[in-house]
Amino acid sequence: MSAPIGFTARSTGVGRARLGTLVTAHETIETPQFMPVGTQATVKSLTPLDLRNAGAGMILANTYHLSLRPGAERIARLGGLHQFMAWDGAILTDSGGFQVFSLAHLRKVDDEGVTFASHIDGTPHRLTPERAIEIQELLGSDIAMTFDQLVDPGLGASEVEEAMERTHRWAERCLVAHSRPDQALFGIVQGGIDASLRRRSAVAIAGLAFDGIAIGGLSVGETKDEMAATLEVVADELADDPRPRYLMGVGSPLDFFGAVERGIDLFDCVLPTRVARNGQLWTSEGRLNLRNSRFQDDPGPVDPACACETCRNHSRAYLAHLFRAEELLAYRLSSVHNVTYTLDLMRRLRAALADGSFVSLRSAVAAQYERAGAGSTQ
Ligand SMILES: [Zn+2]
Repeated sequence: MSAPIGFTARSTGVGRARLGTLVTAHETIETPQFMPVGTQATVKSLTPLDLRNAGAGMILANTYHLSLRPGAERIARLGGLHQFMAWDGAILTDSGGFQVFSLAHLRKVDDEGVTFASHIDGTPHRLTPERAIEIQELLGSDIAMTFDQLVDPGLGASEVEEAMERTHRWAERCLVAHSRPDQALFGIVQGGIDASLRRRSAVAIAGLAFDGIAIGGLSVGETKDEMAATLEVVADELADDPRPRYLMGVGSPLDFFGAVERGIDLFDCVLPTRVARNGQLWTSEGRLNLRNSRFQDDPGPVDPACACETCRNHSRAYLAHLFRAEELLAYRLSSVHNVTYTLDLMRRLRAALADGSFVSLRSAVAAQYERAGAGSTQ
């Protein structure tokens, strides 16, 4: 039996940054790479063709949402998630852990799993490590994730440690439960923002036979410095590990550089599409808010440096009008641009790693966002 994924990477001389190639059942991906988030089997307002045109090769879909609606067994009967949503690229599914702990009501955690009430209709559900794997095997994603317990990073050390230890036990159970030969399985490092817990978690997860290693529980309210310090600890532990590393839920332009420098290969985030729907566009001139009245008379493209459908055909004035009129096309055109921008930034970042211009690209992007009065894109 061949491995469900292949990964080769070379170091670049920029910190721990590496350039790699990830081969999945459906697609070969150049890394570092960003995955747009298709929560409910759709990247909001975009078709699979839009995603391809934006340069996407791998997207993320959510186990929690799809298992509640329309149901994993139904998607399996309809041919699996790729066929259901007409996406022939790679798909990574999360395990449902993050959503259970951030969206669901009336959670009750025990060592076996989590019982919770659906955020849609209040009906009771239960997720265990075994069921989270079963759902992801029914969906047929290229990469599945282990079921983990998230905690508020502000909680006491003993609660963070207890959740981390449980996450490790669940990771082993996921590994035992997983049986689909064409699907990879990644483990998740937890441990909050405590350096010693993070180090222990990285050692524990890296010691198991996963196809890749994810870092979870970040970008959930900690400061940028806390995130960087935590990444540094995990990066240290994983320095000689050849498997792909995935930083979950991080994806604003300025965050990529520091994480890539610490050896991260994969990213996902809802931000590019979420902020797009609020009228915030990421561009070579920094962050623009198209709800601002100054754009109502601006005939130029959203981003003169972008070749996406939106920038080729439409003006800032037109998008500003669509947002004010609450026209549906506003959401699609702005999402097309932000996803294209984000994937193009990753492409430029890879090119800069290859030709030695990483530091100057990072400075240029940082200057663009600072000039626009947006030190953070969040
Ligand atoms: Zn564009």
